[in-house]
Amino acid sequence: MFVNVTAIFEIHILTSCDWRKIDVIMVSSMDLNDKKELFCLIEIKNFSRNKGPGEYIGRYNYFYKLKASPLQNPFTGPINLESKLRLVEKFKKFIKSLPEESPQWREIRRLQRIYEDKRELKLICWCDPLPCHGEIIKSAILGEINPKDSKEKIV
Ligand SMILES: [Zn+2]
Repeated sequence: MFVNVTAIFEIHILTSCDWRKIDVIMVSSMDLNDKKELFCLIEIKNFSRNKGPGEYIGRYNYFYKLKASPLQNPFTGPINLESKLRLVEKFKKFIKSLPEESPQWREIRRLQRIYEDKRELKLICWCDPLPCHGEIIKSAILGEINPKDSKEKIV
């Protein structure tokens, strides 16, 4: 049984950081908790389905008294797959065009510190299971996307 779990674990390390799959694996084997640092534990959750603490990355919400995040997506559009993909792509370009000193990148650095400290982070928005600009924030936290004129720019 453990051999199988290990095999799945390694496939996921190679292919993606899909939290939902990892979640199932972690339930399957307590031993994997020791390997926690190898996982990408940045999760993107829908506010309405979330339990417990998380970092809100969406817009101001009067009903739930949510403060607008500096990382809210400034682009809006219909709530469907095609539109969401376009909005995520726009947000990616936007984030890459901003300098390190921008409020957005300062917020990303703050989230990065939380992630480095706790080795896990939950980003809260409203999009999931549709594509979310949180994916871009996650990439930025992981250093795969960098600010404008960044010295460590990965081409
Ligand atoms: Zn979102």
